[in-house]
Amino acid sequence: MTASPVQATGLVKHYGSIPAVAGIDFTVQDGECFGFLGPNGAGKSTTIKMISCLSPVSEGTLRVAGLDVARESRRIKGLLGVVPQDDSLDPDLPVRQNLEVYARYYGLSGREARPRIDECLALFHLEEKAKAKIDDLSGGMKRRLVIARALVHEPRVLVLDEPTTGLDPQARHLVWQKLRLLKSRGVTMILTTHYMDEAAHLCDRLVIMHRGTILTEGNPHALIEEHAGGEVLELRMRPGERAAVLGELSAVPGVAIEEVEDLVYVFGAGPAAREAAARIADPMRAFLRPGNLEDVFLRLTGRGLLD
Ligand code: ADP
Repeated sequence: MTASPVQATGLVKHYGSIPAVAGIDFTVQDGECFGFLGPNGAGKSTTIKMISCLSPVSEGTLRVAGLDVARESRRIKGLLGVVPQDDSLDPDLPVRQNLEVYARYYGLSGREARPRIDECLALFHLEEKAKAKIDDLSGGMKRRLVIARALVHEPRVLVLDEPTTGLDPQARHLVWQKLRLLKSRGVTMILTTHYMDEAAHLCDRLVIMHRGTILTEGNPHALIEEHAGGEVLELRMRPGERAAVLGELSAVPGVAIEEVEDLVYVFGAGPAAREAAARIADPMRAFLRPGNLEDVFLRLTGRGLLD
């Protein structure tokens, strides 16, 4: 049996006395897109840096393809394609040469590299930009180039740290499209994101991190079903009506309520909850919508995301 692409047990990272990662366990399977989702400061990048052998592990074990990150960083680096948060392209070299330098670094000869580079440029719609200067590329093109660069040596695992942060919606969707294509080709991917929709869109499985710990793990849709239910009712209420409406809703079996400022989230909003909500004076302030990962986070932490 081949070892899992990545396996962590009791993984800890301290920066001084602060635990950025406070003892987490996870296993990434071959061919899946595995996500680390959570707000800023949750410990996602720190985890990715340990996997990429860029930051030493404080405690616990972390293996990539069965190899210990503490002892075999050189071999591990050859197995990973890393897409860091900053684009880190060489502005003095045109697009194609940026990939050639990388290919050489990974030990590919010119003959081996040429078709790989052609393929990677084509895959990311960058063939026509092969001779362009880096500074002339849009943000979305740079991102795609960094992903293409990470694939040049055919890594076993592609590691992406916040792959679409800072991109406009169109560029973001194009990156998603390409990552889905890679997924369909069986490329194992690990990604961090603070975008709940990105995680739901791309990940087969994910962990939700908060303050260095894992709150939950699973398939995004199963997590939504489990923690938020299929439908969530959002109510915007005036102070005067709050107590009466909440009293009525909390009496409905199977309903859970979270209050965030003037917003009330009603989870498990079946017909009885909807009926109760319909008694609110202004129906314009009651919205029924599908559950999402933000709801899961909210249910697990019991607080707003913006703290
Ligand atoms: P995320 O990627 O989820 O936003 P990080 O892994 O970057 O979170 O950070 C987790 C915690 O570790 C934060 O509290 C952050 O301030 C701290 N941290 C990250 N990098 C360093 C560092 N190099 N030195 C000290 N503290 C750090």
